[in-house]
Amino acid sequence: MECGVERFCRENVLGIQPYVPGKPIEECRRELGIEHFVKMASNENPFGPSPAATAAMRAALDECHMYPDGGSYTLRHALAGHLDLSADHFLIGCGSAEILNLLAETVLEEDDELVYGWPSFGTYVFMGRLMRARSVQVPLRDFTFDLEAMAAAVGERTKMVIVCNPNNPTGTVVGAEEVERFLDRVPDDVLVVLDEAYAEYVDGAGSAAPRYQDSRRYILEGRNVIALRTFSKAYGLAGARIGYSIARPELTAAVNKVRQPFNVSSIAQAGALAALADQEHLRASVRFAERGREELYRAFMALGLRYVPSLTNFVLVDVESDAGEVFQKLLERGVIVRPQGECGLPTHIRVTVGRPEENRAFAEALAEVLGR
Ligand SMILES: *Cc1c(COP(=O)(O)O)cnc(C)c1O
Repeated sequence: MECGVERFCRENVLGIQPYVPGKPIEECRRELGIEHFVKMASNENPFGPSPAATAAMRAALDECHMYPDGGSYTLRHALAGHLDLSADHFLIGCGSAEILNLLAETVLEEDDELVYGWPSFGTYVFMGRLMRARSVQVPLRDFTFDLEAMAAAVGERTKMVIVCNPNNPTGTVVGAEEVERFLDRVPDDVLVVLDEAYAEYVDGAGSAAPRYQDSRRYILEGRNVIALRTFSKAYGLAGARIGYSIARPELTAAVNKVRQPFNVSSIAQAGALAALADQEHLRASVRFAERGREELYRAFMALGLRYVPSLTNFVLVDVESDAGEVFQKLLERGVIVRPQGECGLPTHIRVTVGRPEENRAFAEALAEVLGR
């Protein structure tokens, strides 16, 4: 006798739409029989990590019979030195995505409200679902987080608001003035999450970027703000799975209670530590993305397509036809991108910056697909 899993699984979990990752290259090879793929779907960084980071990870393999340092002591102290804070401001996670989950578990109860802009990062939807909290999605304005509307959407039951800055999938940035007005308007008993997964690209853009939020200062002012950063993007360590949060020690300690004791591998910790020490490589990685963006912009202009100027390692572009079909036809030509129909942008695709030859291959394939 078979008994359905709905008899024991939580209803809200069964209702979760499984995360659809950027298509893995292996799967594309199997399905289409194409040997060589260009993957520009998951905001991975083909510039790669610092060679010092890969060397440190290799060296860490020799100690792999041991559990990692569960509290990531060395890395937290290095981050503290890097950002002039104390080690107890930091929590290290298996990617900042893990910290988002930890925050959901720490903060959200059934029927609480979670406010964020939309379209944005899919994990925010998941957080609400997991905890049976209500997601309040505030539409973007001009592809940008609308913080006025978000502040207005904060109500009695709101526990958490998330500002993705720069925003994924649009690549847009909200300036510090606006963020600060927003923080002043949000009540003290609401946690503000600043998702800064792409912060290094903004910091590296100099005068081309608006003044960027100073989460460090907001935290030192004692605000209920937590900033999330990652080694997956500009640092090029997506496969190692490591990110961190910055918040008041009291808040960090609360979130730390739901963290698994050995959440981050010793290999990832070693890689992140070495990556952090190589700021020269980080600057080169940021320049790589800048050049790549320019290449993509030029390709879009040549095709007469509108794109959203980005301060990240990806660009959102309006292909003026069904994005799912364009995605499929690009796939058949060996290029993997991310269609945005599920986020309510049915004619947009998001393209991650590739190496110059990958950007060219993508541009040629897109011209072919669109017949332009
Ligand atoms: C990539 C990304 C993350 C986190 O990625 P991790 O690899 O889990 O650190 C978080 N937020 C946004 C908006 C992202 O794009």
